[in-house]
Amino acid sequence: MAKSNLMPLSEMHFPPSCVVCLSPAIKQFPVEQIFSYGRKNYTVKVDVPMCQPHSEAASYKGPVERLFGCLGVAGGVLIGILSVVFLLLRWQGEGGFLAKFFVGGIFGFGMFILAWWVIAILIAPRFAVRESKEARGAVKIIRFQPWDQMTQLEFGNESYAEFFNRTQ
Ligand SMILES: [Zn+2]
Repeated sequence: MAKSNLMPLSEMHFPPSCVVCLSPAIKQFPVEQIFSYGRKNYTVKVDVPMCQPHSEAASYKGPVERLFGCLGVAGGVLIGILSVVFLLLRWQGEGGFLAKFFVGGIFGFGMFILAWWVIAILIAPRFAVRESKEARGAVKIIRFQPWDQMTQLEFGNESYAEFFNRTQ
């Protein structure tokens, strides 16, 4: 993996070649990374150029990956409902119907999001086919400084990294 220079996000220019294979790029594929500083989260997104086959490979979801995406929703709903039932059964303190309804709703929704995120976002991509993983991992955002927008990328293709650094 070769690193780019640290530079402002808005000043990044991608040479119009596929980041995986260097053939002429005709599509853009969004690469995202979340950075946490203190209590704030920053979602950094760059659109990287890809050729037709590699942009298709990057967006392609195989049957197992899709299955885990669906399982994420189903598992999230199930865990959300179970956690609300559990919370209401264990409710010791005072509280009217409305209080229970609100707290239960928020708690259940939170558990749904958590379960969905673990299954669909963390686990599902591990079952991506090899070509998809290769294309999606061709560019990684490895550093971001929110105070001056300085960003650093890492490229799987060494030649593209050199090319990128020369064209800035
Ligand atoms: Zn390509």
